[in-house]
Parts: sequence; structure tokens; C-alpha cells
Amino acid sequence: MTNYAETVATKCIECGQCTDECDFLIAYGKTPKELANEALNTKFSDNPVLPYSCNICGYCQKLCPENLDLGLMIMGGTRETGLRENRTTSRSPTCN
Ligand code: SF4
Ligand code: SF4
Repeated sequence: MTNYAETVATKCIECGQCTDECDFLIAYGKTPKELANEALNTKFSDNPVLPYSCNICGYCQKLCPENLDLGLMIMGGTRETGLRENRTTSRSPTCN
């Protein structure tokens, strides 16, 4: 199965549509292509807080001419480390 970060790294044309609108992307000052390469190369190990800053709202996909969903990429990266899934699991007993 293809890692979604590979799709973003390949298809993102760095058009600026999402990076002009998303507070998460503005705060980090990186394009999705750059983030995808970071996910592939380091799994965000140099910046482990970064994946938690995306709220997985899907707005970027609505803006993106390539129909890319960066939240999906972030979830994929954190799934490999288990970080975000562990947090979700630990919260689930108190969330309905
Ligand atoms: S899903 Fe993440 S990257 Fe996309 S617009 Fe929402 S916060 Fe930004
Ligand atoms: S809108 Fe899509 S193509 Fe444009 S910078 Fe964002 S992810 Fe890349």
C-alpha cells in the first residue's frame, strides 16, 4: 500500500492555496510537499509535536487543486509511530 505522504510529496505543486489559509501550515511555515518529505524521512521525529497541531479538519482538501488531504497524511504518519492512536485510545473512555 502506498504511503499517503508519498502521494503528497509527488502531487503537491506548492500552489499556496492551503498554506495561505491554514493556521497550522502558516505556523510551521512549510509546504505540504516539505511536510510530506519530513514525514517520509524522519516521521516527524525532529518535531514530534507537529502532528498534533493539525486538527484534521479537511479544509485543505477543499482548497487543493490536487485534492490532497493533509490530515490524512498526518494521521498516516502518526499511525506509524502509534502516537496519535495511543492518545485517542487513552481518551476514548471519557469521550462519547
Ligand atoms: S486538515 Fe490540517 S493541514 Fe488541512 S486545513 Fe485542516 S489543520 Fe490545516
Ligand atoms: S493546496 Fe494542494 S497543491 Fe497547493 S500547496 Fe496545498 S497541498 Fe500543495
